[in-house]
Amino acid sequence: MKLEGKVAVITGAASGIGKEIALTYAREGARIAIADLNLEAAELAAAGMRVAGHEALGVGMDVANEAQVEAGIEAVVAQWGGIDILVSNAGIQIVHPIEVFPFADWRKMLAIHLDGAFLTTRACVRHMYAGGRGGSIIYIGSVHSKEASVLKSAYVTAKHGLEGLTRVMAKEGAKHGVRANLIAPGFVRTPLVDKQIPEQARELGISEDEIIKNVMLKETVDGEFTTVQDVARVALFFAAFPSNALTGQSLIVSHGWFME
Ligand code: NAD
Repeated sequence: MKLEGKVAVITGAASGIGKEIALTYAREGARIAIADLNLEAAELAAAGMRVAGHEALGVGMDVANEAQVEAGIEAVVAQWGGIDILVSNAGIQIVHPIEVFPFADWRKMLAIHLDGAFLTTRACVRHMYAGGRGGSIIYIGSVHSKEASVLKSAYVTAKHGLEGLTRVMAKEGAKHGVRANLIAPGFVRTPLVDKQIPEQARELGISEDEIIKNVMLKETVDGEFTTVQDVARVALFFAAFPSNALTGQSLIVSHGWFME
């Protein structure tokens, strides 16, 4: 097993991509903290994993709230004595044309994606550095860490920002054996995307089918959605990589939507 005995904190792991990463890590022997705004769903997911024979803990946490992040990470360390892997995954989507983008929505987007990444990183690296056993931080960016789309000013800004944080953490973490990398998925059919399809259809005045074919998947090589399993496979690769040789990188998993 690739993650035997490791402790992983995964934010937003009660649903979608985070939930699949949690399962994938658990199957490889990691102990999993499912940190989510939705405590009930986090506890349910953790209970399901325990029934399957894994070690899992549900932790209620708004990643944009400093006190809640500090308390949540402390609870994980109290339970298992340290943290080896952080997957900063929690995220939402709010779309508007910029001329009517409510400032409150802009701030909420930046708070969840950027403050959330900062606060969870800070809380976890303190333990990773003190424990002296290194660690791996994985940011869930997006093709929108590389590329822009209309209506998504806040999301694209935040996801580009995560690339900067990844690179800084690669440099700051190196001497402690802490690596930082980013995964940039294309569109994945999760509740986050299912919500966007009708919203974008309304905003752009086209059908939901056209949003999928002509907007979301238009630039892919094969018209296919990326899957949660695709993203989890890459998250496992990053988490299990044994040295600083692989740090400060972004890996795009998008059916060729964006190529570097
Ligand atoms: P999802 O809606 O299925 O899951 C997101 C989870 O995050 C939910 O369980 C939600 O409760 C939690 N969450 C939301 N706000 C939170 C907060 N403030 N604190 C803690 N938890 C919070 O979404 P998903 O599609 O699995 O998205 C996960 C990540 O992947 C996001 O960062 C998203 O931007 C990114 N991403 C998604 C896609 C996609 O197409 N689905 C593509 C690229 C990147």
